[in-house]
Amino acid sequence: MPPVELLAPGSGAGVAALSPSPARLHGWGGGPPATGWLLRPNGAAAVGAALEMFRTRAAWTGVLARGMGRSYGDAAQLGGGLVLDTARLKGFELDDEEGTVTAGAGVTIGELLGGLVPSGWMVPVVPGTQHVSVGGATAGDIHGKNHGSAGTFGTHVAEIGLLTAAGEELSLAPGDPLFAATLGGMGLTGVILWARIRMRPVSSPFLAVDTDRVDDLDGALAALRAPGGPHRVAWLDLLGPRPGRGTVTRAEHLPGPDVPLGSRGGATVAARATVPRWWPGALLVPGAVAAFNELRFRRAPRRERGRVEPIGRHMFPLDALAAWPRLYGRSGFLQYQLVVPYGAESVLEAVIGELRRASLPSYLTVLKDFGPANDAPLSFPLAGWTVTFDLPRAAPGLGPVLDRCDDMVAQAGGRVYLSKDSRMRPDALRAMYPRLEEWRAARDRADPDGVWRSDLALRTGLVPR
Ligand SMILES: Cc1cc2nc3c(=O)[nH]c(=O)nc-3n(C[C@H](O)[C@H](O)[C@H](O)COP(=O)(O)OP(=O)(O)OC[C@H]3O[C@@H](n4cnc5c(N)ncnc54)[C@H](O)[C@@H]3O)c2cc1C
Repeated sequence: MPPVELLAPGSGAGVAALSPSPARLHGWGGGPPATGWLLRPNGAAAVGAALEMFRTRAAWTGVLARGMGRSYGDAAQLGGGLVLDTARLKGFELDDEEGTVTAGAGVTIGELLGGLVPSGWMVPVVPGTQHVSVGGATAGDIHGKNHGSAGTFGTHVAEIGLLTAAGEELSLAPGDPLFAATLGGMGLTGVILWARIRMRPVSSPFLAVDTDRVDDLDGALAALRAPGGPHRVAWLDLLGPRPGRGTVTRAEHLPGPDVPLGSRGGATVAARATVPRWWPGALLVPGAVAAFNELRFRRAPRRERGRVEPIGRHMFPLDALAAWPRLYGRSGFLQYQLVVPYGAESVLEAVIGELRRASLPSYLTVLKDFGPANDAPLSFPLAGWTVTFDLPRAAPGLGPVLDRCDDMVAQAGGRVYLSKDSRMRPDALRAMYPRLEEWRAARDRADPDGVWRSDLALRTGLVPR
């Protein structure tokens, strides 16, 4: 399958002009930055040329692809290494007959939605932000609010164009161990140049949303399992008087033809404001967030059915405020995302209890349900409950508390999400990802010299130092 036009031969015209610049990169949560070298290749040939360049620089520690930098921790940075920003690997092509789109790795989910929803095609799995690249979505094997019915992003990837450490451009399909190792493989099997993705037909850019206010964690778990639309998510308030109260929404695509497809956009959302650089992080304190949560809880409808919302506003509420991590101030925040199997609900309570006892405030807490795991050895989701906690990095005692939480999660057969991680220990990783050795074997075959590296991979022992 030939890649899309922009990645085809000829796109290497700018190879000679490739000149890496020094860069300090960090994750979306603003953790410790890494200083290395940055290149923005303009096509497949330029990515290959960058790999050649790496071979001539003995001092560089490795090579890593970077998409939109929306992973929260250190997955898309490499101290002392060459980072290939994929922002110029653009271009996508729809095959209307097949219902597939072939997209350059640097195309974002928002660009796909904006271009394709008016033609009646939806990206079947979208994360909580539209600013994620096709390469990042594939390498993280990301999930959406509809994992129970749709699986991960990778479930819908029919083919991947991968540049290997040997400089070969491979077309990988499901069934190939390297395909499975690349889904969720965090950029450590090669550079994803493009992907062919199966799309979902839709007949309007709107969703019908049901909302329930819940009084506690049990209420949230029950409402997430109630009948209704496949896009399910709970917002929990952990700072109020009853930890776990919140709201649960279940949404489904509105059938047409009442609302014309091209009408009023709606598949994406525009930022209405931004947080300035000088934002005094000190304003974001538990008391203020608790008051905001109280208001949010009270303003939510107790029970509402069928409210019509555009896809963008419902799926990507955080994108309405650009640069929102600045709210946390200079030291930033980390997101702790875990999944535990059904039946291990007590671990959710135990983790919430640990955070509260240590007075560690989770300013944003989100709960979702997952369907079965897929065949990719490092893919995060498994049948069970997943929770995300957004925690200020500066909070005293954070590290040891999360280490204890890791142990509880691992003992319950659960795991922590690598796309969000910035602190997990190597032994926790081994305990949580039982198919790690299978993944390593596939990776070692594809990259025997250990070209592809990241700070995350070195810190957690995914790859040897
Ligand atoms: C507000 C917000 C909400 C989010 N919601 C969700 C959610 O609901 N579900 C979910 O699963 N995730 C979610 N995420 C996380 C996000 O989807 C993942 O971290 C995703 O991988 C980020 O994509 P990116 O393009 O920014 O990649 P980056 O962060 O730049 O990179 C992530 C990883 O992918 C690798 N990579 C990137 N491009 C390539 C490539 N072309 N070839 C090989 N490897 C590559 C990098 O090396 C790195 O290991 C959310 C993030 C934010 C900020």
